[in-house]
Amino acid sequence: MATELPGTDVVVVGLGAAGGVAVLPLADAGVNVVGLEAGTWLSPADFAPDELRNNVRGWPHSVQKANREVPTHRPATGAPYSPRPAIHPMMNAVGGTTLHYWAQSWRLSPWDFAVVSRTRQRYGSSRLPPGSTVEDWPFGLDELEPYYDRVEVELGVSGQAGNVRGAIDRRGNIFEGSRARGYPMPPLRGTGFTDMMATAARGLGWHPFPGPAAINSGRYQNRSACVYHGYCARGGCHVSAKGSTAVTTIPKAQRSKRLTVVTEAHVTAIDIDRNGRASGVRYLKGGTEYVQPARVVLLASYVYENVRLLLLSTSAAFPKGLSNNHGQVGRHYFSHNQVSTVSALFPRDLNAWYGLPAQGVAVDNWADDHFDHTGLDFIGGGNLWVYSDRRPIAAAGMSTFGRSPRWGAQWKAFVRENADRWNTAYLQKTTLPYEENYLDLDPSVRDPLGFPVCRITADYKENERKVTAFIQDKMAEWYRAAGAIETERSPLGTMGPTTHAYGGTRMGDNPETNVVNRWGFSHEVPNLGILGASVMGTSGSRNPTLTVQALAWRTARHLTEQWRSIAA
Ligand SMILES: Cc1cc2nc3c(=O)[nH]c(=O)nc-3n(C[C@H](O)[C@H](O)[C@H](O)COP(=O)(O)OP(=O)(O)OC[C@H]3O[C@@H](n4cnc5c(N)ncnc54)[C@H](O)[C@@H]3O)c2cc1C
Ligand code: SF4
Repeated sequence: MATELPGTDVVVVGLGAAGGVAVLPLADAGVNVVGLEAGTWLSPADFAPDELRNNVRGWPHSVQKANREVPTHRPATGAPYSPRPAIHPMMNAVGGTTLHYWAQSWRLSPWDFAVVSRTRQRYGSSRLPPGSTVEDWPFGLDELEPYYDRVEVELGVSGQAGNVRGAIDRRGNIFEGSRARGYPMPPLRGTGFTDMMATAARGLGWHPFPGPAAINSGRYQNRSACVYHGYCARGGCHVSAKGSTAVTTIPKAQRSKRLTVVTEAHVTAIDIDRNGRASGVRYLKGGTEYVQPARVVLLASYVYENVRLLLLSTSAAFPKGLSNNHGQVGRHYFSHNQVSTVSALFPRDLNAWYGLPAQGVAVDNWADDHFDHTGLDFIGGGNLWVYSDRRPIAAAGMSTFGRSPRWGAQWKAFVRENADRWNTAYLQKTTLPYEENYLDLDPSVRDPLGFPVCRITADYKENERKVTAFIQDKMAEWYRAAGAIETERSPLGTMGPTTHAYGGTRMGDNPETNVVNRWGFSHEVPNLGILGASVMGTSGSRNPTLTVQALAWRTARHLTEQWRSIAA
């Protein structure tokens, strides 16, 4: 028998990047919020610069929930399953994956909000990839800009603006959409290596600029500046320079006394009342089942768990899962095309032993629709990103670029000489949703509680393959211009479980093709809001989190402004 708790105004499921941001505008507006988080609090003392622990063994996790429910994957309906990874990269703790993410904090480009209409306008309808279910967003960048701005200030984002109210600043990204003002902090500093790459890019006629990061380049809101010691990829920050929601928006919301954080609370279902409205959630904590009644439910448990919880929450009113009477939960799924990259070997040391993956230089000339695709046979593009970060185990895993065997004395000698002479770029490319790519519940694989895990059926299509080849060519050209003596490309792979998952509860005005409306609330369950990249219909050429957080703020703000109609 479940224990029924006193009701609250809003229950937020998951206090990560999205949920951890949404609680602040709610609490500030005087709304009482219960935040249910599967993990626990972690402290700076938990975050050690330890590659073996962080990157090889998948620490830090306060609770191993994600690892016990890693989604299964098959490239197509009826295809054999791919090998299932042992470790899920996402985090279970207060702050979620913002504790150990890289913290690159990008806004989307104007084109990313209007891929369909802008493609038709510039190249004709025939250029939209066959089988793609892509739609324009229900609004443009101008609608999201104030929320990007607010989140940048609350988290503390460092960067160099390239377009403030239409005034182009060539030190920043000249392709970015107009912003109301610059970043709250200057960019992270460059390194000898990133300076060398920036010079080479300028030599090619491109426009390099330092990327934006939710990492303090100076002391900010009483948190330390980054000390550039590295070990930031999958490592938490021991000086709280990284703007995780655990050290920014969540503690701010707690100070209002309107937010109650319940840790080790594993939500298993969303309940509905006899009118088909969400009435609260049920969760397990310490072996006991609780029911948390709430006037509004906000689901913020990352893409796979958002979809899984909806599909598991069946009832007479929603036999196929909550908010799924139109069969849209799980549809329009895609994972960002970011794996296929380019590595380069240089004839001299790069001195890249210190630094962090968010401390780099970007080129956006080949992203989105920033270049003319008339003579090309794809749409979209990629952001080219090189950065300073080297860890000993990863360094020893370097490619030999065909210049030495992969074992024995010759290999050791090669690695000893070249461990600081190579670099791998990070290439994020446009990825679109397709009819054949979707999420559902696995028919046979279950988590330790006996619930089916999420199943991914998805693969990259022709457009993504063409974008990959094009962007890898551009990256190889950039490395060569900087003096690289070898370049090597990694394969595209397939769409397995990822840190950049999108779709499954897409946002749009049409309830026949979308789960949530333009404000992030379900078309079918008006007091159920969904936060996270599961609502995003396009990815652009850059990481999702700042957009996820701007959307989360906007959904929470809308709720406070429309409280009477949504929470009625
Ligand atoms: C190594 C790494 C590097 C990354 N680098 C970047 C980057 O540089 N820039 C960028 O934009 N993005 C980056 N990402 C991606 C980024 O972390 C995600 O986009 C972002 O965290 C997603 O936000 P979210 O709130 O949806 O999920 P999370 O931040 O993962 O939060 C989800 C929360 O929900 C909780 N939860 C899950 N299930 C339940 C349940 N059933 N009950 C209760 N609680 C639950 C989890 O414990 C977690 O705290 C990176 C990710 C990784 C792993
Ligand atoms: S490199 Fe900077 S942001 Fe990253 S963990 Fe170290 S101090 Fe923190």
